[in-house]
Amino acid sequence: MEPRVINTRVIDGTALAARLRAELAARVARLAASGIRPGLAAVEVGDHPGSRIYVRNKIKACAEAGLHSEHVALPASIEESALLERIAALNASPAIHGILVQLPLPPHITAARILEAVLPGKDVDCFHPENVGRLAAGTPRFVPCTPAGVLAILESVELNPWAKHAVVVGASNVVGKPLALLFLQKGATVTICNSKTPDLASHTARADILVTAVGRPKLVNGTMVKPGAAVIDVGISRLPDGKLAGDCDFQSLLGVASIATPVPGGVGPMTITMLLANTVRAAEAHAR
Ligand code: NAP
Repeated sequence: MEPRVINTRVIDGTALAARLRAELAARVARLAASGIRPGLAAVEVGDHPGSRIYVRNKIKACAEAGLHSEHVALPASIEESALLERIAALNASPAIHGILVQLPLPPHITAARILEAVLPGKDVDCFHPENVGRLAAGTPRFVPCTPAGVLAILESVELNPWAKHAVVVGASNVVGKPLALLFLQKGATVTICNSKTPDLASHTARADILVTAVGRPKLVNGTMVKPGAAVIDVGISRLPDGKLAGDCDFQSLLGVASIATPVPGGVGPMTITMLLANTVRAAEAHAR
């Protein structure tokens, strides 16, 4: 029998993000008509090299989408009590509807205490235990940004996870775990893999939808993927030559996967778009 030839559809995350941001613009305009401009505060502590770029991109995206934003840059030496005071001020600010605290925080600060201090209604990253609990219970206030971006990509190609086998490689609180929960709630059978999983390929090869969220270039290649599976690569690593790479060997997916996302230009732009969407949602909830 001839091997099955699969025409891999490569997702253009930048174009999809632009389409969704245009839809968001209509909601921003409706809020503006009632005198509300959604506002996001990005709190950055210290000068972690990755954080600077992430925060800058988020602030830029806010400006492009017509959102108000505040970059709260604080020194690495700030005391936890002073940081909590800044969060309290943002909680009370009528100009701010969403607050994100860029991680990691310096080691002398207990991240959980800071994340719990953010008002749940302004917790657009969905890190507050109340929002994590709501998500787990299936009644989310906000859907965390990267998992929401993955789901939006699948929706854009009309791939419904219902009755599919979704395999999520990576089990962090930010990406893997919430995404696995969301897949479960959407009727998928879910496998979650972590660094201790023996024989990773035996799991990835059974996936109808495979999501990799690890941060290890070429962890997954086409031989580990079921022909026709959708493969969404969340991972971002910086290679020694300065280029960005995902967790999948992208070229090897072509002709095997039905859907594949490149890095960069796949999930990344969707994550920021979902952050904007959550901030707009928070402002809409405030307006009601
Ligand atoms: P993380 O907190 O470091 O978690 C990584 C997860 O991968 C952990 O659960 C770890 O397992 C698992 N893992 C490590 N090695 C593994 C292996 N060999 N096989 C299977 N699982 C393995 O990272 P994260 O915050 O979730 O981020 C993951 C990646 O996504 C990173 O590259 C990050 O830069 C990227 N990211 C991208 C976006 C975007 O917008 N595109 C957004 C967020 C994150 P254990 O639980 O056993 O330690």
